[in-house]
Amino acid sequence: MSETIEKVKCLIIGSGPAGYTAAIYAARANMSPVLYQGAQPGGQLTTTNEVENFPGYPEGITGPEMMIQLQKQAERFEADVRDGWITKVDFSGDVHKVWVNDTKEIHCDTVIISTGASAKYLGLESEQKYLKLGGGVSACAVCDGFFYRNQEVVIVGAGDSACEEAHYLSKLCKKVTMLVRRDEFRASKIMAERVKNTPNIEILFNTETEEVLGDGQVVTGVKVFNNQTDEKHEIPATGFFVAIGHKPNTDIFKDYLDLDETGYIINVPGTSKTNVEGVFVSGDAADHVYRQAITAAGTGCMAALDAERWLAAKDTTFEVNTSIYN
Ligand code: NDP
Repeated sequence: MSETIEKVKCLIIGSGPAGYTAAIYAARANMSPVLYQGAQPGGQLTTTNEVENFPGYPEGITGPEMMIQLQKQAERFEADVRDGWITKVDFSGDVHKVWVNDTKEIHCDTVIISTGASAKYLGLESEQKYLKLGGGVSACAVCDGFFYRNQEVVIVGAGDSACEEAHYLSKLCKKVTMLVRRDEFRASKIMAERVKNTPNIEILFNTETEEVLGDGQVVTGVKVFNNQTDEKHEIPATGFFVAIGHKPNTDIFKDYLDLDETGYIINVPGTSKTNVEGVFVSGDAADHVYRQAITAAGTGCMAALDAERWLAAKDTTFEVNTSIYN
């Protein structure tokens, strides 16, 4: 059952830009980091097509390619990148305990959490069915919009993400129908105005999804209802996009770390420190505002530096590698 307990100086959970950047810095600082990739190696960016706003790539780069490069860079400095899913933690004592796939136990001096956030879905059976089939349900217009060129699509949501994605889709698709469950947007005024002023976007307020319709393989339409009048109708569509926010992947930490009301880890402002000594956070797990690859990478760097300084303060035999600050 239980294997021998492994001891590590720095354990990094998650393999998006935050985790890999933390691994690069921690490895170069002699912390021998071990990084567990989680269920989606490479994180959210692996579901993204072209990344055009990460500095240093003048021609852009695909999300998966960027993640491969980040992994290679971390491994070049001997970061130990492993497959595996952290299923449980215990941050109640001086030694931070972490379990991999419910079996392997690791004791860590420092932990860097980079578990990111996942897109939310409505949870309808029909939505999940076509999502699993890869038949027309998506939570990422930028990744999948291309497949719906000159077609009609539906998007759910009323926040900045939904507006941004609806606008993106409007440039590719013949028509975009936007379902807003209240009588107003949550999005900033400028984003909402942009959507309202786009001729091929139709906005249906007070409208919710009853069922995603399909032929058993692919989406063919969406059955909606007006939540004020209960009137129902069907909208023909080949794509059903969901843009109703993200959920931070922080459930396993909730008994130990301070989380905000939506589950984002609360860090000490201006640092990557959490309320538990020796446990640090980076990337989207603590960021509901910026949620960018570059900000995740930046906070990954902060977490490694904070962890290194923390270790140096605790362990006089551990020397801070001052060269990384140059
Ligand atoms: P938000 O939480 O801001 O918005 C989620 C939207 O989804 C809300 O309009 C909500 O409706 C709707 N929604 C939630 N659940 C359902 C449901 N079951 N059925 C129908 N609709 C539902 O998430 P975002 O991802 O849009 O934004 C997150 C953060 O990121 C925000 O701070 C945002 O400003 C920021 N952001 C900024 C961007 C930019 O400035 N370029 C781009 C993208 C995001 P309701 O309003 O009724 O609650």
